[in-house]
Amino acid sequence: MLPVRPFVYSGKPTSLACGEVSLEALAKKYNTPLYVYSADHIRYRLGLFTQAFATQKHLVCYAVKANSALAILKLFDRLGAGFDIVSGGELERVLAVNKAAAARVVFSGVGKTSPEIDLALRSGILLFNVESEGELDLLAERAAKLKKSARIALRVNPDIFAETHPYISTGLREHKFGIDIHRARAVYRDVAKNRWIEPAGVSVHIGSQIRTADPFGAAASRVAALIRQLRSDGLPIRFLDAGGGLGIEYHLDLPFHPEEKIQQYAAALKQAVSELEDIQFLLEPGRFLVAQAGALITRVLYLKKNGKKHFLILDAAMNDLIRPALYQAHHEIIPVTPRKGARKLVADIVGPVCETGDFFARDRAIPAVQPGDLIAILDAGAYGQSLASNYNSRPRPAEVLVEGKRARLIRRRESVDDLLGVEIS
Ligand SMILES: *Cc1c(COP(=O)(O)O)cnc(C)c1O
Repeated sequence: MLPVRPFVYSGKPTSLACGEVSLEALAKKYNTPLYVYSADHIRYRLGLFTQAFATQKHLVCYAVKANSALAILKLFDRLGAGFDIVSGGELERVLAVNKAAAARVVFSGVGKTSPEIDLALRSGILLFNVESEGELDLLAERAAKLKKSARIALRVNPDIFAETHPYISTGLREHKFGIDIHRARAVYRDVAKNRWIEPAGVSVHIGSQIRTADPFGAAASRVAALIRQLRSDGLPIRFLDAGGGLGIEYHLDLPFHPEEKIQQYAAALKQAVSELEDIQFLLEPGRFLVAQAGALITRVLYLKKNGKKHFLILDAAMNDLIRPALYQAHHEIIPVTPRKGARKLVADIVGPVCETGDFFARDRAIPAVQPGDLIAILDAGAYGQSLASNYNSRPRPAEVLVEGKRARLIRRRESVDDLLGVEIS
């Protein structure tokens, strides 16, 4: 399946591996459900960005919320990437990996609190992506109080429609994100008078899982026009933060070429700034870098039949991977070790949680499996574990990072003690 995914069938009997590491062996050692990620694949995806933007000053700021595992942040830090964070907790994660990485952090999010702003000011982050005038007032107050000046970009709302799931589309005026692009010039003019606020960029993020380059180009063009105006007003704007949102293909039978995608994306952005000198791109990809590097490995608990309907009940559930329940998202689901000559079965593939919405797929054709068999849910490296919960008092999965021939536990499985330990009865 390379290079779209690091998961390949090999050996005799044929069985799925992450790079060179057998998933059967990992499941045996660490139990299931288990998240498995390929460090090599993440490095390859980041490299695609770096190559596509080689001719342009840029910094890739990995969107931490896609997968916030410390080991993955450490990998990005070693590769020189920056980070896009949306909370104080995410900033603490980056600082835990490398305090000096703060200089490569951009802070997005519509609801930053005083303690979060103070932590970011004290750590000396690169840029605040400010999403409202109220936030700007609070930031100015905190910056003056701490005597730390704040570099800012306004996150503008470009009023651009991008084809994606409504829950992850963010660039229309009716969405809660950003400041209306038509008001932005006046807001920048006001803020320029404050000695603790340094307007350094303009930022935009139109949504997630967007699969064509056009909306990114259109948004960046509007931002570039605003930057020209701001520069003519005398503001030294250096950064164009183009946000994240570059989508992937979750279907195995549809073509997807990551290299081509990234080149189209880079071309659209570069075209938008062709008349601007000395601009540095800040890029905030999350999903594109990590989604296809990961899979959720789970075991079949039961096969069940209600009337004509077949169910495959797994030991993973919506609390471990909520994307199908939350966004009606498609994930490919394949047996780790396919049974010889197995016929296809059409079944609902579900978890043990007490919700009808607890499914990974409905009426899905899958080669027949037996209780105890391992199943891989592909493309689960982004918005999988980072969105996991303890619903039904289920401990969250362990995570393993594979690099070459080596597999390393990067998060142990939660225990019930971990869950009960924070409670007071
Ligand atoms: C979520 C988010 C991203 C990352 O989005 P992906 O679709 O994972 O690339 C980037 N920037 C901001 C501001 C976000 O909220």
